[in-house]
Amino acid sequence: MTLSLDLTQPDTRAALAAGARAAEKPSLIGMDRQEMAEALGLAGVPERQRRMRVQQLWHWLYVRGVSDFSQMRNISKELRAALDRHFTIARPQVVEEQISQDGTRKWLFRFPARGAGRPVEIETVYIPEEGRGTLCISSQVGCTLTCSFCHTGTQKLVRNLTAEEILAQLMTARDRLGDFPDADTPDLSSRNGSVIVPAEGRKVSNIVMMGMGEPLYNFDNVKKALLIASDGDGLSLSKRRITLSTSGVVPEIFRTGEEIGVMLAISLHAVRDDLRDMLVPINKKYPLAALMDACRRYPGLSNARRITFEYVMLKDVNDSLDDAKELVRLLKGIPAKINLIPFNPWPGTNYQCSDWETIERFADTINNAGYASPIRTPRGRDILAACGQLKSESERMRKADRLALEAMMIAGHGEA
Ligand code: SAH
Ligand code: SF4
Repeated sequence: MTLSLDLTQPDTRAALAAGARAAEKPSLIGMDRQEMAEALGLAGVPERQRRMRVQQLWHWLYVRGVSDFSQMRNISKELRAALDRHFTIARPQVVEEQISQDGTRKWLFRFPARGAGRPVEIETVYIPEEGRGTLCISSQVGCTLTCSFCHTGTQKLVRNLTAEEILAQLMTARDRLGDFPDADTPDLSSRNGSVIVPAEGRKVSNIVMMGMGEPLYNFDNVKKALLIASDGDGLSLSKRRITLSTSGVVPEIFRTGEEIGVMLAISLHAVRDDLRDMLVPINKKYPLAALMDACRRYPGLSNARRITFEYVMLKDVNDSLDDAKELVRLLKGIPAKINLIPFNPWPGTNYQCSDWETIERFADTINNAGYASPIRTPRGRDILAACGQLKSESERMRKADRLALEAMMIAGHGEA
């Protein structure tokens, strides 16, 4: 059974008011250490104390996951009050939480208006698996690109998410999953080192920038957020457990490896320019040859650090054995693994998912050439949480569309 909680109702009014007030103050979340030190200066913290205060705050925010200054036990009451007057560390509003039959969770988060804009809503998905849990994070509200098989691509870009909003998805998901240490876990002062939650015990062990939006069109904010997410004195996610997926923004690929250092995934989906121009229109600007060249030059590439190539299986469009052979040829010399994604249907699409047999034959061809080619099990389809199904507020699914989707799933349309 799918569980859906509407969190906008009754007693959230107070929380909303607090959120609106909070939006007027800058958030400490998403600032790097230097910016935080400068911000503390503006709040009257003397220069000689700033480094130490930043260290304390960093720990409370990113190791302990507190969302209220009053929880910061080793900071004086006066300073906590001063911090509260100047800054916020509040979480976004959770408008909706849906839990799929398979345990996948999808949250609709609302972020306050920025400047003259309106509040925005985005979706974040949590996929629990044996021994790991992956959080799929959004980088933009909507997308400027218009990949023809992607639901997000039908939603216009509203705006880029800030570093704070990108991190807030991770932190709020961890709150809701109980993935931060309990409030009564001993203080840092009694410990050596700051990581209280060991990597193995975590509910969110991996993150993928594969939610709404094109992360490389929001490079600076994504970079800032991922550097904080992987900071060893804070959220401490290994860069090997962070994957950034791009549709192929070639000029930013090298920088991604050089400046962020996370794992790279490429939304390939076609092996000929004429077809890729249609499926992933950014290909007209950066065609396959340029894309493959950028992949070959990705910093740190090795057999232990492969690029993932995502390939959505579209019936009679890109799923022939010739396509599979051409794919092998194209990837020659690149340490790669190929992730075959059964197409996830959404209301209004004309595509269908390839038959299971076809997907398996396609996978075998690639496998025989020596590449790992896992078929991604669709997760959370019943709550439209699977790859490419995300789309938020402004055009959230009408009930009629929801019923249409259910009918599609029952009829097996697009079902792997
Ligand atoms: N914009 C980035 C990251 C988000 S999309 C990118 O395009 O890479 C995450 C992955 O889901 C991409 O590989 C995307 O091509 C794929 N995807 C989009 N729509 C899909 C759908 N309907 N079914 C299966 N995969 C889809
Ligand atoms: Fe944007 Fe990625 Fe969807 Fe293409 S696949 S429309 S780049 S979110």
